[in-house]
Amino acid sequence: MIRIFFQDNNTVCKARINYVLNFIEAHPLVEHKLKFSRDATLAYDITCNYGIPNSGGFFIPRQNFIFSNNHQNNFGSLTANTYTYQSLELYSVSSEKESLSNFVKNKKFQFDILETIFFHISRMEEWYAEDQQLDDCEMMKSKEQFLVKNQLHHLPVIDHLIFAFAQVIGLALTPKKTVFRITHDIDEVFQDPSLFSTIRRTGGILWRRQKLSAIPKVWSAYFHQRNEYNTFDWMLTDQSNVEKCIYFLAGGTTKYDTPYALDTNEMKTIFQLCKKRNYRIGIHPSFDCWKDNELLKIEKEKLEAQINQPIVISRQHYLHFDFKKTPDLLIQNNIKEDSSIGYRDLIGFRCGTGFGYHLYNFKEEAPFDFLEVPLIFMDSSLFRETNHDLEKVKERWNSFLDKNKFHTKITFNFHNSRFYDAQIHEIPLKKWYQELLSSSLDIDKFTKKRL
Ligand SMILES: [Zn+2]
Repeated sequence: MIRIFFQDNNTVCKARINYVLNFIEAHPLVEHKLKFSRDATLAYDITCNYGIPNSGGFFIPRQNFIFSNNHQNNFGSLTANTYTYQSLELYSVSSEKESLSNFVKNKKFQFDILETIFFHISRMEEWYAEDQQLDDCEMMKSKEQFLVKNQLHHLPVIDHLIFAFAQVIGLALTPKKTVFRITHDIDEVFQDPSLFSTIRRTGGILWRRQKLSAIPKVWSAYFHQRNEYNTFDWMLTDQSNVEKCIYFLAGGTTKYDTPYALDTNEMKTIFQLCKKRNYRIGIHPSFDCWKDNELLKIEKEKLEAQINQPIVISRQHYLHFDFKKTPDLLIQNNIKEDSSIGYRDLIGFRCGTGFGYHLYNFKEEAPFDFLEVPLIFMDSSLFRETNHDLEKVKERWNSFLDKNKFHTKITFNFHNSRFYDAQIHEIPLKKWYQELLSSSLDIDKFTKKRL
């Protein structure tokens, strides 16, 4: 344990700075081995000065951009400077461009790491996004976001930063293998192989200029009237060493929703299987729930009645999440963990971290009660950014996993319905999914052997 006496002279944004210090202390890579205190009368091992030069100990410069009262908007001018630490590249959120340098020189960190952490994890650019930055679902477009603009969304920049910071101040850490978390959103349970949907699917393949070989497969499903979405038996893993969650849609009336009956025998079988294989069952609130407390309550209670257990985990359908409204509704409905903060059209890190943490409530200047476990890798996002092109999908899958073997947590979302999409485009998603599960098993065996 390293006890750090933390000194600063900032009176404006104390709550935000404390939020970041708490985030660092609770970060899984740090293993509860760092403790900050502002109280000089308590015993400490090192000092860390934030913006007070020449006061001894470690020094973090203050940028005074994000921890100030007039930070709103103006995020477009921010830039990512690169710093090196051992084999890692670290990235700042800076108001001025600087050339490549070392992360730390003579106990002096070279950029304001506290503002950088706060910027990413609080999602302040999304809280204060302007209308023209929003997409058709009224959420900030991914290409407007800092990490995507700077092409850093394939890296957990904050997890890397925490790892480096902890090492610099004297914590001896060995790189930890990335943890996988498997989740499924159940948007549809029964594929509708009607003539209409088959024609629509065919049209979609032509319109998006995808491989024509997909078309006969679509028609084969129609002629044989197969329900290709019933993947539960092999998709729901009984592996015990991975965290696994499944979220069910329980309503919805917009064009984005595809509600299905929950009180059928088929659904009973699926719920039983989820329980048998130790999945945590959550709600997948329909599109309009993001701002509708009553609707969320009705859908949650409807699902609870079918599964006979209280629901405390959630992921918004369409990842439809409003930072100013949705958190309050989740709290009012007793949700303890959400997993909606990922990109709908890209794979990657939207908060700079893959680990669960508490989002920031700018109205109260305090963290929200529930845990946010960011969504990192969704099958549909992968397909969207590659237009179902096998070579591109393969390259993206391999390079992303290769880059992120250490230091983070990856929450995957595999839809039961997307395995069929993959199959008609000759993408071996099922095989990759099963390899992923067996690789988690290997990691477990490996670590057990080493212990
Ligand atoms: Zn969904």
